[in-house]
Amino acid sequence: MSRELSIAIVGYGTAGQAAALLLSRDGHRVEAFERAPQPRPVGAGFLLQPTGLEVLWELGLLESAFAHGARILRLYGETDAGRPVMDMRYAELEPRLFGLGLQRGTLFSLLDRAWTSRRSLRAGCAIVSVDVREGRLTDADGHRHGPYDLVLVADGSGSSLRGQVAPARYDRPYPWGAQWCLVETGAWPWPAELRQRYRRARCMAGMLPVGTHPDDPVPRTSFFWSVPAAALEDAAWPGESAWRAGLDALWPEAGERLAATPVPQGLARARYRDAVHARWYAGRAALIGDAAHAMSPQLGQGVNMALLDARALRDALRAHADVERALAQWQRARLAHVRVYQRWSRWLTPLFQSDLDYAARLRDRVFHPLTRVPGLRAQSLRVLTGTRLGWFGTFALAPALLDALAAAAAPAPAYTDPVEAGGLP
Ligand SMILES: Cc1cc2nc3c(=O)[nH]c(=O)nc-3n(C[C@H](O)[C@H](O)[C@H](O)COP(=O)(O)OP(=O)(O)OC[C@H]3O[C@@H](n4cnc5c(N)ncnc54)[C@H](O)[C@@H]3O)c2cc1C
Repeated sequence: MSRELSIAIVGYGTAGQAAALLLSRDGHRVEAFERAPQPRPVGAGFLLQPTGLEVLWELGLLESAFAHGARILRLYGETDAGRPVMDMRYAELEPRLFGLGLQRGTLFSLLDRAWTSRRSLRAGCAIVSVDVREGRLTDADGHRHGPYDLVLVADGSGSSLRGQVAPARYDRPYPWGAQWCLVETGAWPWPAELRQRYRRARCMAGMLPVGTHPDDPVPRTSFFWSVPAAALEDAAWPGESAWRAGLDALWPEAGERLAATPVPQGLARARYRDAVHARWYAGRAALIGDAAHAMSPQLGQGVNMALLDARALRDALRAHADVERALAQWQRARLAHVRVYQRWSRWLTPLFQSDLDYAARLRDRVFHPLTRVPGLRAQSLRVLTGTRLGWFGTFALAPALLDALAAAAAPAPAYTDPVEAGGLP
């Protein structure tokens, strides 16, 4: 470490948690502010890519993540008529690779429990303004905090503070969002796959096994249901029977898993934004995670990006005693990875969540055949596994991580799709 800094972090989601842990382990004095009185994640589960696993591995949390998460070997999407649209296996890229389905609460708890030394978390404290020149914060009760050497604004996709740090090139909501929840995995037939089903781009459901929580041994699966943002309003709720009929018509097996879930109360609502900043920092403050680069979750990269942002920032602060130089190096180090995923997400989202029927028909016809062309298949695999860097580069995973993946995970069971093998149980 070049020198000990006093660092404030606004928001205790993945980006804030990872930054708090990495930077306090490096000897900095970290103070985190979270508006929720009892910090906890919102939403269901997510897919951690090898890139995100690399950060957990560095943090010494890989084994605990494996103890709870579900190994995901295949990403598969099909139309309601059973036509494949996407069919990717991690092992085609590198035999040791896989993704890890995790409950949001599990990652939250692993990162939270690991932040033991020099811990300072102020829960129930919403920050309303950031003085980037002085490195000071003001909370909703009018109390001032700081000055700090560095303020990290990690207040998520709907950030109310991003404009105070740096002007957004644009910042707009997506017209579609989602309802999501955890359900018991039970006898779900695809325990090692992210599985999606589509009817044009108007209807989409996803099921991702996400394993257990440290305080709950029941294996769960994260359910995702795409809806126009306007349909997330209470007034637009179609009623339980109409909602269930819609799901059953698209995907009866998923409907069965949802039978015990009270709706709409048991469904969390998600809205997404697309926010691009030319610069993520100004003076003594920086945006990190979704606050810096909100994107649609179509490619499921945001948690991975948040972890990678935090690690790259730690590395830049190790390399430069001057905070502004460190922030400039940090943004340079992350930009190629972030930008390409923002672009792909922006282009792909309407193919999966929109009322553009012609685009969905084109998707159904060309996606699968195109991704079977050898060169294009490798490119698509890279994009989907989070290992694309810039347009043509590759995110170099540490060789030791690949060994750790092979060694730390239980041997993968020989995996056969139960449908291909001759029928569902
Ligand atoms: C439906 C859906 C599915 C997704 N699936 C995946 C996936 O499979 N894989 C993946 O990698 N990513 C996925 N993502 C994206 C991922 O959830 C986000 O990118 C990630 O959570 C961003 O982390 P963050 O820490 O930047 O923000 P957040 O997790 O949103 O954390 C922000 C925190 O800041 C706090 N806060 C906000 N304002 C203030 C304030 N003024 N003062 C103090 N605290 C404040 C909030 O309470 C919150 O705790 C998905 C997202 C959605 C919506």
